[in-house]
Amino acid sequence: MHTELETMVYSKASSAASTTTATTAAATATTTNAAASIAISSLPKSTSTTMSEQEVTIHNLSIEQVIKDKLALMVQEKMDPDQGSAFFVGDLGEVYRQHLRWKAHLPRIEPFFAVKSNPDPMVVRLLASLGLGFDCASKSEIQQVLNGGVDPSRIIYANPCKQASFIRYASQQSVAKMTFDNAEELYKIKKLYPKAELVLRILTDDSKSLCQLGLKFGAPMQTVEPLLKTAKELGLNVIGVSFHVGSGCLDEHAFEDAVVRAREAFDIGHALGFEFSLLDVGGGFPGADVQDGITFEKVAAVLGPAVDALFPPNVRVIAEPGRYFVASAFTICTGVIGRRTVEADNANKYMYYVNDGMYGSFNCILFDHQQVYPKILSRDGQFYYGDTTDDNNQFECSVWGPTCDSIDCLAKETRLPLLDVGDWLYWENMGAYTICAASQFNGFRKSEVLYVNTFH
Ligand SMILES: *Cc1c(COP(=O)(O)O)cnc(C)c1O
Repeated sequence: MHTELETMVYSKASSAASTTTATTAAATATTTNAAASIAISSLPKSTSTTMSEQEVTIHNLSIEQVIKDKLALMVQEKMDPDQGSAFFVGDLGEVYRQHLRWKAHLPRIEPFFAVKSNPDPMVVRLLASLGLGFDCASKSEIQQVLNGGVDPSRIIYANPCKQASFIRYASQQSVAKMTFDNAEELYKIKKLYPKAELVLRILTDDSKSLCQLGLKFGAPMQTVEPLLKTAKELGLNVIGVSFHVGSGCLDEHAFEDAVVRAREAFDIGHALGFEFSLLDVGGGFPGADVQDGITFEKVAAVLGPAVDALFPPNVRVIAEPGRYFVASAFTICTGVIGRRTVEADNANKYMYYVNDGMYGSFNCILFDHQQVYPKILSRDGQFYYGDTTDDNNQFECSVWGPTCDSIDCLAKETRLPLLDVGDWLYWENMGAYTICAASQFNGFRKSEVLYVNTFH
């Protein structure tokens, strides 16, 4: 597919410049090459409030080079060694690779990107230009996506318990697809948006997932019939069924069980006179690949055939992947701002303090049950990105965020070479449920994002 994206982001071939500059506001796009400007100006004009006029540069360089340049800039600006802020590198090429991977393995299933996992404006724009749909959970997520020029038919408002004013907003904007899992929600929708296209979210087994969502959402199977009867009595338009196996699902068979349940719900619906035409298989797809862990391919190999076996081709099948698209695309670099030596009999241990933490981008440790791993980025001006050589000179240490709270620990026990204030660490696979949930507790600002495209 020769996409706008390729011209927007992957413009190297047509440009001698190593960067593509775009403004986040499509209406005032300025670019360093013609191809990119065509793509960007082809996006509908925006009066977005969430996007600023600030220029965004997409570097057609390696992640390593962009980090090197950034650190060099800090030196050049004669900052104190510990003064630079933590920063992310977001690789739009990696997001694009995940898109290609999806199309290769689950061609029938249309992804609706779950905005909550990472509402980064460039990611959303890229996925919009690739024709994806979006799963939004609130008014402002819907606003952001609509402002990006996405047609309301490409949005599913996938929050089963919605604030009345948000439903009214969805109605005004013709964002018709929305989920429900209880009768009270049906009465609310009947009043506020009777023409909505409703999707019944059923409860599935999420015991194999890192973040279980079934505690909060999902209609148990025994409630499916009464709920659908209520919808029928209210004259509401239920168009299909959705589920979510839980975020960070570690067992591909959870998807299979869920598809079987969805089929049962379809049959109950048909018996009541509904003509369901939409199956939404939700999110939960793995993000970054970890050794011996579940992979997207494993899930696809189970989910694809299960869907085909139980749902005829006239049923439209969508999904709501979040983590899958963004987890591996973002790396965060943190500077060491403090070190404490813990003296011990045989070997000293060290505690390092870095400039982003649990209350910031690393909230994923707490909220998303992620494990994060520090790697050495630079030490005494020397650069170690991607260096896998075993260093015998490593010491036991722990890594801490900058706030005054002791919960702010990023790595309790790890081994690193001896670091000093001004050295840097990097942490990969930090794209999902990180920046978006960062707070500014204790007066620390959110880390900025530099963009690269490594897809050529
Ligand atoms: C969070 C969420 C998603 C995305 O989940 P991932 O595990 O990131 O894929 C999708 N749909 C709904 C309804 C969600 O709440």
